[in-house]
Amino acid sequence: MEYKAPRGTRDILPDEMHLWHKVEDIVRLVCERAGYGEIRTPIFEYTELFERGIGQVTDIVEKEMYTFLDKAKRSITLRPEGTASVVRAFLEHKLYARPQPTKFYYIGPMFRYERPQSGRYRQFWQFGVEALGSQDPAMDVEVIGILIEIYRQLGLGGFEVQLNTIGCPECRPRYRDELRSYLGGRAGELCEDCRRRLVRNPLRLLDCKEPGCQRAIDEVPPIFEYLCDECREHFEGVKALLSALGVSFVINPRIVRGLDYYTKTVFEVVHSELGAQDVLGAGGRYDGLAGECGGPPTPGVGFAAGIDRAIQVLSAGAGAGEAGDAESRPGDAGAPGPDVYIAPIGREAKAEALKLAFALRQGAGEETPGAGGLKVETDFMGRSLKAQMKYANKLGARQVVILGDEELHRGVALLRDMSTGDQEEVPITDIVKRLSTFGRAEAATVQEATGCR
Ligand SMILES: [Zn+2]
Ligand SMILES: [Zn+2]
Repeated sequence: MEYKAPRGTRDILPDEMHLWHKVEDIVRLVCERAGYGEIRTPIFEYTELFERGIGQVTDIVEKEMYTFLDKAKRSITLRPEGTASVVRAFLEHKLYARPQPTKFYYIGPMFRYERPQSGRYRQFWQFGVEALGSQDPAMDVEVIGILIEIYRQLGLGGFEVQLNTIGCPECRPRYRDELRSYLGGRAGELCEDCRRRLVRNPLRLLDCKEPGCQRAIDEVPPIFEYLCDECREHFEGVKALLSALGVSFVINPRIVRGLDYYTKTVFEVVHSELGAQDVLGAGGRYDGLAGECGGPPTPGVGFAAGIDRAIQVLSAGAGAGEAGDAESRPGDAGAPGPDVYIAPIGREAKAEALKLAFALRQGAGEETPGAGGLKVETDFMGRSLKAQMKYANKLGARQVVILGDEELHRGVALLRDMSTGDQEEVPITDIVKRLSTFGRAEAATVQEATGCR
């Protein structure tokens, strides 16, 4: 029997983890500096939350959710997105009773039953932010600015911010009626999904990719002339503040986002490298969601961005070098090799090697646990000394401690600098102190270069 990861999922192996850590580190750094706190919600919720929060007439709820009954016959759904859970947590813990706004960020896996294709998985990772409690257009702009800043720090160039507004429950119905009357006469040209949407959620037609629908939509007037005063002012505010912040954007009246809870601002960040799956991250304002979930009316705005896609672009090297601080950094090419490799020869030496490895990893006499500790590897394969030296070299070890039974009896070990080939005899009792000093200087350099961790 041969086991494979389920269709549409994959393993992320240690070899590629450095890119994931890089994305996660930058997300944490940028969000924490802007006063957003990390939130971790369950990866499953009661199904009603998503049906209510995302909306019944959406692709996610209609086709893409992993929904099942648990052993107590409750309907459970693996979270297809993060916003509904964050708002649920905000309400459940009555965080609205604290001074507002409440600003969250999250990093984690989401689940959607979609046709797997390049860069699209059924378990996929997202980072996102949600800012609740403020109606100010400046809140929308901070959220968009954070997404852009994350991409900038990642060195991801070549993306574009596309902006739209979809109005509010005051003004959107007028536009919906307009859409129905414009498109109703051309129902025959529309795809099956859109014929259904025309009745229940005509706004969704605007982002349909079918050629017939695209042609029909070309005739449709944009929403702007139908907006109420409040929505128009808000949209003008967002545009003015984005410009003031120096964020360039284009207006794209076709962006509606697939989720019912959006109001006013919607936006997408697209990247040419990604082809048909060109959306890197997207979001918008959702002033009705908290109320829809049974809480006090609370405005909110946020985005979600795909980590898989960001990494796809980063791996392809797209846009690298556009941002000022995107030069290659230590560790970019993969995990760095060990500071020390300990090569024991003989049974007694093996015990000493293991002891020494743990002591070096701990660091010597440091007040902070782990500080000054080194990355240390040793032999678990019973290799000969020659084979161990070859292996240490392959790992990229910078120092090798050679422990033979004979040296052990004299209380010494051989310390070999792998870059120079210099070798000297050192008392075993001095090794931790000697190598830990070396490690501290190295660690400081790496920390400075990466700016985090
Ligand atoms: Zn409005
Ligand atoms: Zn269509």
